[in-house]
Amino acid sequence: MAVLVVAACLSGGWSAARVGALEHVTVRRDGGDQAVAGRVLVEAQDGGLLFQTRDGAIWIIQPEEVVDRGTDETPFEAWGPDAVAQQLLVEFPSGFKIHRTANYVICYNTSDVYAEWCGGLYERLYRGFCSYWRNRGLTLEKPEFPLVALVFNDKESYASYACRELGEASGSIFGYYSLETNRVTMYDLTGADGLRRGRRGGSSAAHINQVLSQPAAERTVATIVHEATHQLAYNTGLQTRFAGNPMWVSEGIAVYFETPDLDSARGWRNIGAVNRVHLQRFRKALSQRPADALPTLLTDDSRFRDPHTAPDAYAGAWALTYYLMRVRREQYVSYLQEMAQLRPLAELTAAERLAQFCRAFGDDLERLDRDFVRYMREVK
Ligand SMILES: [Zn+2]
Repeated sequence: MAVLVVAACLSGGWSAARVGALEHVTVRRDGGDQAVAGRVLVEAQDGGLLFQTRDGAIWIIQPEEVVDRGTDETPFEAWGPDAVAQQLLVEFPSGFKIHRTANYVICYNTSDVYAEWCGGLYERLYRGFCSYWRNRGLTLEKPEFPLVALVFNDKESYASYACRELGEASGSIFGYYSLETNRVTMYDLTGADGLRRGRRGGSSAAHINQVLSQPAAERTVATIVHEATHQLAYNTGLQTRFAGNPMWVSEGIAVYFETPDLDSARGWRNIGAVNRVHLQRFRKALSQRPADALPTLLTDDSRFRDPHTAPDAYAGAWALTYYLMRVRREQYVSYLQEMAQLRPLAELTAAERLAQFCRAFGDDLERLDRDFVRYMREVK
């Protein structure tokens, strides 16, 4: 399961963002006024804003919420880890601490050792992710903002924070990445249902690895890696937040990287490994594969959001990403490079998505689909 929190887009014509100076906006929301400082990413003709604060969060501000607005002489500058950590401790005052790694600021109320374990996992994924793309001709950018992970001690406190963004679904989801806050949020998985083994919270990294290496934990850990991969894709220039990325692309990448690797101390050896869960589901669906399966996967994002069709949609996204990465790598990389240029709120129509896909991979979609299915039937 994976969740991207997508807010409703503002309506009306958009103009390009003004860059440079720090903007101050007073936002009236939930009965109170809040002053925010940052930069305007997109401004609607009606005064609505897509606004980014210095911690990297993106606010969707409706025109009627703007009470006051002004510009400063100070240039916009992203906050460093100290300022981000300070802000987190104001937001989470009681019992929360900060663990910093090279690229992450982890705010937690779990044991120190669990937070350190998460930091180690994320840094290894970060290195693995960057070197994977670099080896395929894509040099990613260093994140502009520190990457924030929130780690709650138990499922209940996690759910009460997450329900603001996920609603009722928060109870059944182990973790998520939010396009708005730019944070990944999760809880101590060693306490997750069905995985608990004696001690809670993990008293050593070895114990945590032992609990989370059980076969029963594979999907749980995969979710956390999956969400952290979304965060990386959106913070290293591979993808642009709120840019109308087709879901098969975003989810395909996250699923491609999600296979856990808890053993390796240095790298992330499982990148691109066959994802057994998704392969099995993809193969099962082949007997009833409709003729328009490929164009539907490319253009219909609703299949990823409907719980009845989501498992097949994710399996399809994984399979297509796996195939393109293996067989059409150069084309896939240039396709991603083109997608990375999309600006926030630039939604592509179904026809535009198909045209963009065909520009990269050729016009004969039927043939590509035949080759793709044949290849995936043979994958061991
Ligand atoms: Zn996802």
